[in-house]
Amino acid sequence: MSLSDPATPVSGSLFMVVAPSGAGKSTLVNALLAQEPAIKLSISYTTRPPRPAEQHGREYYFTTVDDFLARREAGEFLESAEVHGNYYGTSRLLIAEQMKAGTDVLLEIDWQGAQQVRKQFPHAVGIFILPPSIAVLEERLKKRGQDEPHIITRRLLAAGGEIAHAPEFEYVIINQEFATALSELTAVVKATRCRFAQQAARNASLFAQLGIHGTLN
Ligand code: 5GP
Repeated sequence: MSLSDPATPVSGSLFMVVAPSGAGKSTLVNALLAQEPAIKLSISYTTRPPRPAEQHGREYYFTTVDDFLARREAGEFLESAEVHGNYYGTSRLLIAEQMKAGTDVLLEIDWQGAQQVRKQFPHAVGIFILPPSIAVLEERLKKRGQDEPHIITRRLLAAGGEIAHAPEFEYVIINQEFATALSELTAVVKATRCRFAQQAARNASLFAQLGIHGTLN
């Protein structure tokens, strides 16, 4: 029985949060993690240079193209993609360890990565964050002042193509009002934890005591 087998009794859920740049994804995810410390955020590898406030091992493992490609060749990534001219990848080892331990894991990745993860974890929960409008997306990207103007332009041009993948996700959250978006994201996490398979895995002895058998996937 493999880890990706839907029948594998792991109680951890795998969340994939995807959004175009500037939709407010990282702020939402950080607020969720502050409320729900039991969820483990996967730290990705990237060849993008660090932004001024970013730290190696906190936001990303920053690395060179050569190192990234060698790791990819060695099969170290659960998924990887080129996004806005840089490589990004999720460590397979880290995810496998967390999932086996029954920990909820959250991936902040792009739609290409989400497609790859879905093939290996069919029960992964996909959440797409939308901005309330393209104008707001542009304003947020400019206001956060983390990227050079040509990089902002590139990310804005890519937004339409990314948003076109929203129908591939189970849940859509429109980040107009932050508090509302956060409560919706929290609701998705809580509902996922109440799925039969998750509850059965987490409460095996109670289920046995109550004579509940069988699975519903
Ligand atoms: P940023 O450079 O703004 O941190 O991220 C750019 C895009 O790359 C975002 O959509 C982000 O979610 C995505 N990304 C970050 N880490 C990964 C990863 O490990 N895999 C994939 N496929 N995309 C990632």
